[in-house]
Amino acid sequence: MKYVSTRGKAPVLGFDDVLLAGLARDGGLYVPESWPSFSRSEIAALRGLSYADLAVRVMAPFVEDTIAEADLKRIVRETYGVFGHKAVAPLKQLDGNLWLMELFHGPTLAFKDYALQFLGRMFDHVLTKRGERVTIVGATSGDTGSAAIEACRDRDAIDIFILFPNGRVSDVQRRQMTTVPSANVHCVAVDGTFDDCQDAVKAMFNHTAFRDEFNLSAVNSINWARIMAQVVYYFWAALRLGAPDRPVAFSVPTGNFGNVFAGYVAMKMGLPIERFVIGSNSNDILTRFFETGSMTMEGVHPTISPSMDIQVSSNFERLLFDLVGRDGEQVESLMNRFRQSGTYALEGTPLADARRLFRGVRLSDEQTKTVIGQWYQGCGELLDPHSAIGVDAAVRGDLDPAVPVVALATAHPAKFPAAVKDASGVHPALPPRMADLFDRPERFTVLPNDVAGLEAFVREKVAAR
Ligand SMILES: *Cc1c(COP(=O)(O)O)cnc(C)c1O
Repeated sequence: MKYVSTRGKAPVLGFDDVLLAGLARDGGLYVPESWPSFSRSEIAALRGLSYADLAVRVMAPFVEDTIAEADLKRIVRETYGVFGHKAVAPLKQLDGNLWLMELFHGPTLAFKDYALQFLGRMFDHVLTKRGERVTIVGATSGDTGSAAIEACRDRDAIDIFILFPNGRVSDVQRRQMTTVPSANVHCVAVDGTFDDCQDAVKAMFNHTAFRDEFNLSAVNSINWARIMAQVVYYFWAALRLGAPDRPVAFSVPTGNFGNVFAGYVAMKMGLPIERFVIGSNSNDILTRFFETGSMTMEGVHPTISPSMDIQVSSNFERLLFDLVGRDGEQVESLMNRFRQSGTYALEGTPLADARRLFRGVRLSDEQTKTVIGQWYQGCGELLDPHSAIGVDAAVRGDLDPAVPVVALATAHPAKFPAAVKDASGVHPALPPRMADLFDRPERFTVLPNDVAGLEAFVREKVAAR
């Protein structure tokens, strides 16, 4: 499988190079040259596999010419072996046709572990084979950072720098990052928003000399390998609910569009998915897009679902590429317009195609709290704010009542204890392996929102290792 950039101007690469590169050199995102697809009977044959065996089958077509099958099997087994539930991604029935897929059984209690635990091991495997080192630089609105750090800590071939918006992540989220004592882990609190952090990371990547000097690499949601690993649980849930003989819908609390885009990939591979409902908080750029056809930036509003507090959904560019007939020039010109004016619009077939498949539902913080309270009182289900948005979006998504819908529970309630307590009256306990989180010492550096200063920090820390 070869990979092309959504902007059409970067070199065509194999899986291992895409893994290490993250963002493409033309500013675009890598996608497979074509979508591999499974026939109905091939999908039927996946029923009953364990999560790890399913993961090997689903991911093999994307990596086959660069990663030996035996290595893929070993990495996948190691990855999902550290998860805290035997089913890895258990599915729970909430109502007649409403299901909850719990994606919070990884080491940092959010869905990002499902991809990042795999990514860290993949990096290690490919780098060790090549005798190379990388510097990973990432921005996080909260959950990606800790998940990336857990995935990369203590790996000799990697230095990891995680930028987060100072004061804008929860205490649990910050401590999950800053209490990791490993020498290769560097946490930076940037005086700015998540988008400032993400822009700084992008600027470092676009600074080619810097990028090459430090062999920069990304693990944030623009890395293709993360999308690929997330495709697996869409198959997992759909197979349990009757695929390929029965269609299914998904409801996904969405920020950067990485999670739900993996669902789109599963559909392109032949999984019968009827619709995706996108749950947003008041940072509703995607919901507004599906309503109006216009993608327009606004300022970021802090909410009780901070992992979705974004101004721009970077991974949407991958969908856009397909919507405009894989025309890289058109994607580039839309993205340039977006960067310059903060807005672009789709119309005609691309917009109609997008609207047929996706629908947006937004919830205010007040609505989110009400939903948490109702599900707790109604059936004892304690949802974190992100998962609550997913569940309510499934209920309000105007779906065919005959089609089962899976809402993705993207975080454990204990990751957002203040909001959950406020909404339900219950303080969600951390799992035992994390019970001493608030006693561990923290270690991080506060820096201004300034790319040159951030680059200097990277240089100093890498030199010191
Ligand atoms: C990252 C995150 C999201 C948003 O996922 P995207 O892939 O960015 O759309 C939702 N919920 C939680 C808990 C997250 O950590």
